[in-house]
Parts: sequence; C-alpha cells; structure tokens
Amino acid sequence: MNKSLVTYSLIFLILIALFGFNFFLSLIGNLLLLVFLVPLLIFLILLISFNSLKSKVNTCNKCGTISLGIHNTCMNCGAELEDINPNSADSLQKPSETTIEVKAEEIK
Ligand SMILES: [Zn+2]
Repeated sequence: MNKSLVTYSLIFLILIALFGFNFFLSLIGNLLLLVFLVPLLIFLILLISFNSLKSKVNTCNKCGTISLGIHNTCMNCGAELEDINPNSADSLQKPSETTIEVKAEEIK
C-alpha cells in the first residue's frame, strides 16, 4: 500500500517534470469546469424539455383533469379541450406573436 503510493507520487513528479505544472493546473481547471458544466447542461435540458411539455399540457375546465396536448378531448369527461382552452383563445395572444405597427413620420 505504502510502496504503491510512493511509486504513484514518483510518477506524478516525473509527469510534472515532463509536462510542467501549468499542464496539471489547466487539466484540473478543465475537470472542474466539466464537473460544474455537466450538471448545468443537464439542468438546462431538463428545464427546456419541461417547458416544452408544459406547453402541450391542457387542463380541462370542466373536471380539472390534466391531459397532454396530443389529445383533443379530455381523458376523464370527454369534453373538447380546444374550445375551452384559454391558451388557444384569440384574446390571449402572446406578446411575442403580436405585431406593433410603427408609422414613420417626417420631422420638419
Ligand atoms: Zn374533463
């Protein structure tokens, strides 16, 4: 056990002598970056997938059953979801979908 530790430390010292200390610092930095970035990436992917799933989820106004957007009718009571879904109503348009008309006026 002790011998192997000595040999490993010797190998480490030789590697430092060969590649320099900056190499190991950059390696450790890259590893830390990877360790921090991978969970962040997974979290972002989960968030995006959750948001895309959330937009497809419809809640029945009659019975309150949550069903996916692929079904046009409620899974519980059979009511049509497209007619009662407030998201599809024209009165509740998303701000990104609305257009703002700006008229150019000549300044004299
Ligand atoms: Zn229902």
